[in-house]
Amino acid sequence: MFDLSKIVRPNILALKPYSSARDEFKGTATAYLDANENPYGMFNRYPDPQQKQLKEALSKLKNVPQENIFVGNGSDEAIDLCYRIFCEPGKDSALTFTPTYGMYSVSADINNVTLVELPLDKNFQIDVDKTLPLFKRENLKLVFICSPNNPTGNSIDAIETILKNFDGIVVVDEAYIDFSASASLLEKLELYPNLVVLQTFSKAWGLAAARVGLAYASAEIISYFNKVKPPYNVSRLNYTVALAAISQPELFENQKNKLLAEREKMVHSLQKLNVVKKVYPSDANFLLVEVTDADGIYNSLVQKGIILRNRNNVVPDCLRITIGSAEENDLLLTALNELP
Ligand SMILES: *Cc1c(COP(=O)(O)O)cnc(C)c1O
Repeated sequence: MFDLSKIVRPNILALKPYSSARDEFKGTATAYLDANENPYGMFNRYPDPQQKQLKEALSKLKNVPQENIFVGNGSDEAIDLCYRIFCEPGKDSALTFTPTYGMYSVSADINNVTLVELPLDKNFQIDVDKTLPLFKRENLKLVFICSPNNPTGNSIDAIETILKNFDGIVVVDEAYIDFSASASLLEKLELYPNLVVLQTFSKAWGLAAARVGLAYASAEIISYFNKVKPPYNVSRLNYTVALAAISQPELFENQKNKLLAEREKMVHSLQKLNVVKKVYPSDANFLLVEVTDADGIYNSLVQKGIILRNRNNVVPDCLRITIGSAEENDLLLTALNELP
């Protein structure tokens, strides 16, 4: 049985969070003399610690109550908070499936948490038979699943099996979900009290510079995120541009559809090249491509000012190619065609 009070670290359960000036007085006043702010300027006031306006807009957009939403300084903040809330340093452990996003491992190291890395199978899917026995480990608190997965690009099938069989927290990182034909796990939030869904403004929303990431979970889990986060973790500049993006849904749809069309074009064009051995199917805005000589091709392209992600050390002979603008993609295809 899932029991959140057994998963949260005892010091976090007992934590009395910092109460900011803006937490203690929330109305409208004639003189704000409570937060040691400068009375002059455009950005002189502290931002809303709860990002209420952004949560209102997200709540409508995603059909999720506001109390189920956490806004972070990028998803990377949410990943770090998961370790800090649920994993006792030096004692508890987490599990993920490799190859995958590198921050699960770096964040585990920073927090002195052991991350067990189970390889995905040859189709880049979770090997359920090898996974379930690991759930008997006493101190396993967290499972990270990236779907669509970075760098392989595919969606993961066994997520609900994992959710049903694990009594700890399952974090599903949906950074690329907007590019996927599969449904988001957000629809299942009420069904699974142990589910945390991560999304971000950094990819399909085109706001990587703004640093706005989201975690969706039960109100109880979100309350721990709010307790542990720094009081003003998201700046007003950042949540304002996120709000502006949400208010222009047609721009978002247009850009996304353009990228999806470019992805199709790139799959076909890349498959025709002599240096390309395999283009893996992708539900994301990048392609994992097996080539004849990943290091050599990577270096030749760097000489021409075209930078790919060399994943040779992660998936042998593979490059990860982000879908760029039509012009950027054509530059890449031309350069690949001209390779000796
Ligand atoms: C790009 C990416 C993110 C985004 O992180 P932010 O901190 O929100 O920019 C999260 N997860 C994965 C798997 C990614 O590839």
